[in-house]
Order: sequence, then C-alpha cells, then structure tokens
Amino acid sequence: MDIIKYTGAHLAFRHRLKEFLAAEVSPHVDQWEADRIVPKEIWRRMGQEGFLCLDVAPEYGGLGEDFRYSVIVTEEMTHTWHTGLASLLHSDIVVPYISAFGTAEQKEKYLPGCVSGEIVTAVAMTEPGVGSDLAGMQTTAVEDGDTVVIDGSKTFISNGINADLVIVAARDPGVDDPYQALSLYLVESGAEGFSRGRHLEKMGMWSQDTAELFFSRCRIARGNRLGEKGGGFLMLMQKLQQERLVCAVAAVASAERIVEWTTQYCRETEAAGRPLSKSQAVQFALVEMTTDIKLGRSFVEKLVMDHIESQNIVVETSMAKCWTTEMLNRVVCRSMDLVGEFATLEKCPLARAFRDAKVMTIFAGTNEIMKGIAAKFMGL
Ligand SMILES: Cc1cc2nc3c(=O)[nH]c(=O)nc-3n(C[C@H](O)[C@H](O)[C@H](O)COP(=O)(O)OP(=O)(O)OC[C@H]3O[C@@H](n4cnc5c(N)ncnc54)[C@H](O)[C@@H]3O)c2cc1C
Repeated sequence: MDIIKYTGAHLAFRHRLKEFLAAEVSPHVDQWEADRIVPKEIWRRMGQEGFLCLDVAPEYGGLGEDFRYSVIVTEEMTHTWHTGLASLLHSDIVVPYISAFGTAEQKEKYLPGCVSGEIVTAVAMTEPGVGSDLAGMQTTAVEDGDTVVIDGSKTFISNGINADLVIVAARDPGVDDPYQALSLYLVESGAEGFSRGRHLEKMGMWSQDTAELFFSRCRIARGNRLGEKGGGFLMLMQKLQQERLVCAVAAVASAERIVEWTTQYCRETEAAGRPLSKSQAVQFALVEMTTDIKLGRSFVEKLVMDHIESQNIVVETSMAKCWTTEMLNRVVCRSMDLVGEFATLEKCPLARAFRDAKVMTIFAGTNEIMKGIAAKFMGL
C-alpha cells in the first residue's frame, strides 16, 4: 500500500520528468562520468523545464509545491544511474536555507536564478580535519561595518566546481561558545578572495564535482549573512532533517532500481541450462532484498508524510538515513554476487551503483552520528 498519495498533477509531473531525463540526461551520463562533472547547461535545462526548487514561492519564480515533488525528482533521478546532476542537493538541501532564512532582498536576488538553474548552489561545512564535529570549525568570519572577511578552507564540497553560490559556515573568532559562534554566509562565485582548490578524485559519484574551496581575506557584503549572527548552528540543525530524509528516499529508490535490474538479468540469463531466477538460492536472495526494500519504502513514505505535516521526526529520520543507506549497500553487494563477473564490468550498471552507494553511509551525517542522535533523543 502506498502511503504517499499522489494527485494527477504529481503523476503528470513524474511522466514529464521521466521523458526529459530519458532524452536529455541518460544519453550523456557515460560522458559526464568520464568528465567527472556535468555541464552547467543541464542545470539550466532542468530549470527551464521546471524541475528545480519546486517548493520555492511563486513570487520568486517557483511553484510553491509540496515535498512530494522533491520525492518524485529524487526517485526519477535514480533511473539515470548517476549522481552528478545533484538536483536534490541544490533543490532540497541548499536552496531551502535561502527560502527559510533569507531576507526579502536575498530571496529576490538569488531564488529566481536557483529555480531557473542559472545559479547552482553548494553548502560548505566540512573542513580539513573537521567533519562530524561542526563545533570544531576553524573558518572564521569577521564582520566589520558593512563587510565580512572570511578566512579558511572547506573540503569535500559537492557541486564545488559548478557552484555559483556557496552557503559557507564560519565562526566568529570573538565568541568562545562554538554553538553561538557559527553564522552562515552567501558567497558568490566571483567574490574577492574566494577560490577553488582540487577537484577531488573519488572512488564513486564520479560525475558529481566535489572540491576544495579556499577563502583568503574573502570579502563579502554583510548583507550576505543568512539569518541571525551566531544562528548558524541552529539553522543547520533545523535543515538537516530534510537532508537526511532525501538521502533515505534516494537510498530506497536506488535499491529498487538495483533489484529490478538484477531480477530482470536473472530471468534472462541462463546458468547450467536454466535461468538464474529458477535457482532457489537466487529466488531467496531476490525475495529477501525485495522485502527489505518494501520495509524501507513503507518507513520512508511515512516519514515523508510526517515531514510534510511539519512533525518533528529527527529520531526516525536519523534511523531511516542509517538503515536505508546500509540496506542499499547490502543490496548492491548481493546483487553483484548474483550476477557474477558481468557485474564487475563498467558497462553493467551495478558497477557504478556499487561505488556510488558507499558514500551514502558517510555523508549527510555518518551513520554512527545518526545512531548517536537517535540515542540522545531516546534519552539513552
Ligand atoms: C562525496 C562526498 C560529498 C560531500 N559533500 C559535502 C558537502 O557538500 N558539504 C559539506 O559540508 N560536506 C560534505 N561532505 C563531507 C561529509 O559531510 C563528511 O564526510 C561527514 O560529515 C563525515 O565527516 P568525516 O568524513 O570527516 O568523518 P569524521 O567526523 O572524521 O569521523 C570519522 C569516523 O568517526 C566516527 N565519529 C565521528 N564522531 C563521532 C561521534 N561523535 N560518535 C560516534 N562516531 C563518531 C564517524 O562516524 C566516522 O566513522 C561530503 C563528503 C563526501 C565523501
């Protein structure tokens, strides 16, 4: 039973998106993987077709649609077997900071471009040596009159090369309490003192540009601070629920794609004179994986509806991010075992799915951190 109820408008949107991705994304994925980046033009095409930032209010160029549209985009993206066009990062993780905490001026300046794909966004929290422990951030921001001077470096920033606008978390060196010291700043691509470092060579997610960013006496206008001074930590905490939820949605949808593909392969491929799918061992593996996926989907769909109703589901979302990303990794490994040597070839989609799945247990908060959050809120 589907828990998320879709209207005719949602279904029509899904159909239009499917056709767009089949025509304008899937044929280019191998090239983008080889290039280690997607072209900026595809972001603009996504925007022109109305597939970015669907929740942004109409006065800023969006449609003001509900989170179910984000779920549809995230799910359909998995059909393209790549992660480079990180629309969920842009639409559901970064831009919501501007929608929720931006001033009217900031929204007018940036949101229309985010919706149209003219502005690609990134969020920069992680630093060399500072990952999970955000309180340990060393990048500083000193506000002086109408100017802010940012110094420091960030690493592992998704969309780091393509980004036109980066939300940068930095601390006020004059404030001792790390939880009161963080603020968020909107740093544009051409800002004085802002530069990009290495485009990181990763084991997976090849077409996703992940990069180092440097801020050396980087000067921006004070008007580019997002929200209250010192409110950065709170803003990050408020938005991480949605980040983890889209991660869980993506994990379930990816696992579905993998098992659909593997099931078809096992039906069509013979070993010892009969289809692989006639072996009881293969059948049991497919049934067990499908059961896991159905359990994951029920849980995640329930959370999507709770999230739309603005319920506090921090504990459940942490559990879901952790469980679904581990489930995805189990599913892709087991599917590769069923398929055998063909699964190790680049032309088999499982090879890419395998290397792309690993990082899902690490980013958006490691799975250990997810368990720590759940334990804390469970009063353990
Ligand atoms: C492909 C990719 C894309 C990324 N994109 C972005 C991005 O766009 N923006 C951004 O800011 N960051 C990004 N990151 C960084 C990501 O958020 C961090 O990797 C993540 O926060 C974990 O940090 P870490 O890897 O430094 O691990 P660490 O925090 O150093 O942790 C190392 C190990 O210790 C464990 N650990 C740490 N603290 C605790 C604790 N309190 N309790 C229990 N165990 C603990 C961890 O679970 C892990 O096993 C990206 C990373 C990758 C790999």
